[in-house]
Amino acid sequence: MNKLVLATNNGHKTREIQELLADLGLEILTLADFQGVPPLIEDGLTFRDNALKKARTVYHHTKLPALADDSGLEVFYLNMRPGVRSARYAGERATDEMNNRKLLAELRGVPPRRRGAQFRSVLALVGPGYEDVAEGICRGKVIEAPRGTNGFGYDPIFVPDGYGQTYAELSSEEKNKISHRARSVVAMKEFLKKRVL
Ligand code: IMP
Repeated sequence: MNKLVLATNNGHKTREIQELLADLGLEILTLADFQGVPPLIEDGLTFRDNALKKARTVYHHTKLPALADDSGLEVFYLNMRPGVRSARYAGERATDEMNNRKLLAELRGVPPRRRGAQFRSVLALVGPGYEDVAEGICRGKVIEAPRGTNGFGYDPIFVPDGYGQTYAELSSEEKNKISHRARSVVAMKEFLKKRVL
């Protein structure tokens, strides 16, 4: 079985990507399968820079094809913030709850029609002699108070277009049909078939 390493320390992302790639029949490894992986530093200005950086680090360490996701929430009213800073929006050690609270405070009083946002996921695949990038977006809006307990990050405050429930109220199967990450993984599968299968 061909091997692929997921270059992320985020257990939620790992689970989603594993589910989304299950049909390819790859042996999917995680960072827990390796020792001494250098820290994955996210100091790039774009999702693409960060995804490539993480995948390169893990490829060079493991010598196996590495797939990294860099993702975040872009709120139009806030000029696309939190964007690449989504994980650390309320500070370096911010929890998901702190980030959600900060975002909701910034949008306090902003009417529903001006609360449009999109999640973006950029995936980078790095292996011997190649680097591929794929992207997925899911549009929706930020609601006024958190709802739901599934998922992670900004899931409880984001309602995708065409839905009445937040990402955190959807099952993982439902989220995986429409999410930004579902879309970036579909696009990435074409590269994976060529490079890894
Ligand atoms: P990074 O890609 O590790 O820099 O962090 C991504 C951050 O974006 C997460 O910590 C979340 O705050 C947010 N994020 C990315 N994807 C999702 C998602 O599917 N649901 C909720 N939040 C997400």
